[in-house]
Amino acid sequence: MKIGLEIHVALPTKSKLFCNCSTEPIEEPNVNICPICMGFPGSKPSLNEEAIVIAKSIAKTLNCKIRDKISFVRKVYFYPDLPKSFQITQLQESIGFDGALEIDNEKTIAIRRVQIEEDPAKIIRGENYSLLDFNRSGIPLVEIVTEPDIQSEDELKSFIFTLKALLYYLGIDIDREIKSDLNISLGKERVEIKNITGTKNLIEAARYEIDRQTRLINKGMEPVKETRSYDEKERVTKTSREKESDEEYGYIYEPDLPEYNIENYSIKGTIDPIKKARELSDKYSYSSKTILEAIAFDRHALDLIEKNQDKYHFDSLMQAVTEIKRFKLNEIDDTSLRILIEEIEGGFQIDEDTIKSIVKHEKVRHDELESSRIDDEIRKFIDENPEVLKRYVKNKKLADYVAGEIIKRYKSKPKEVLKRTIEILNSMINQN
Ligand SMILES: [Zn+2]
Repeated sequence: MKIGLEIHVALPTKSKLFCNCSTEPIEEPNVNICPICMGFPGSKPSLNEEAIVIAKSIAKTLNCKIRDKISFVRKVYFYPDLPKSFQITQLQESIGFDGALEIDNEKTIAIRRVQIEEDPAKIIRGENYSLLDFNRSGIPLVEIVTEPDIQSEDELKSFIFTLKALLYYLGIDIDREIKSDLNISLGKERVEIKNITGTKNLIEAARYEIDRQTRLINKGMEPVKETRSYDEKERVTKTSREKESDEEYGYIYEPDLPEYNIENYSIKGTIDPIKKARELSDKYSYSSKTILEAIAFDRHALDLIEKNQDKYHFDSLMQAVTEIKRFKLNEIDDTSLRILIEEIEGGFQIDEDTIKSIVKHEKVRHDELESSRIDDEIRKFIDENPEVLKRYVKNKKLADYVAGEIIKRYKSKPKEVLKRTIEILNSMINQN
């Protein structure tokens, strides 16, 4: 099975790619427009440098080679969302090429190229009419093209997850529309599914198509080379009549834009959360998956871990991060974090009231119920394992073992538990 992707990501620039119109999403149609992004004859584009900086950063994150000089072409075709009859895009001199993205299991997906292009307008289809909204027209996109290296639905999911996590750390809002073309071939011929919106639909479209081609092959038939579309309502792919290959488009050089030397353009600091999770996992023998879940889409969590890893026990710190997420604390200062970790290490349950006290730097009041809950756990364990008491008389170190068993249930390192265990064991010996 061979799966390749072309993913279009909208760049978080303030203005459009070739004009000064705002990219701010707005309900009212045709507000953020001007003659350039409406494609009026005679209007001249000028390149937005911010888009280049972000595109270059994406190419770098995807381990691409980056060109010092880039140029643009006109991809000529007629469609209502493109009144000037061509889209400004890149062909030979794309900003990045020959990259690679490592997904899980040390598998690598090759990135053929990363290129910059403009988004066309949005078509709003009515029952027997169509409307055009040019707010979107000219928004900068980066197209990421992979080699057909993805070999299963799981690998596709991993690829998308990894890409999303990397883009998150470049400040790219993953909830903004992502549009993709997907090519899948289980047989000899390549089937392309065009214009899939969002990542959930992308995975569903792939699943349907893998299933459809498998059924054909099982019947002794060969899937034909064609372009299909994904129907979100029926959740199926259907044959469509779009152009199939680049040869069917006309490309000419864009005469209104010169060749740009971008060698001195900066690159935004790139962070790879997957690598970070692996490093932390190796250092603290802690599950890389759990760390990744905490930091993949949470810059705040990563900063907190990196800043405090030497101060606290790593288990306690990770548990604190989980609580911070659970109670949606956007900011936590050093004092609050220290109190939270003390609570966790004391084996106490964290609830809404605890968090309120922690944020105000107040000492957390534990009701007797909470402390007695730990006592109950210790007593219960000793009741269930009566030999413990006899052995404790001979060997006081056994308290560590009992406390350890209790701590396992709370997944923490509470000094409190050990203290209470010793007290309870001693009082039980005295009673006997
Ligand atoms: Zn404009």
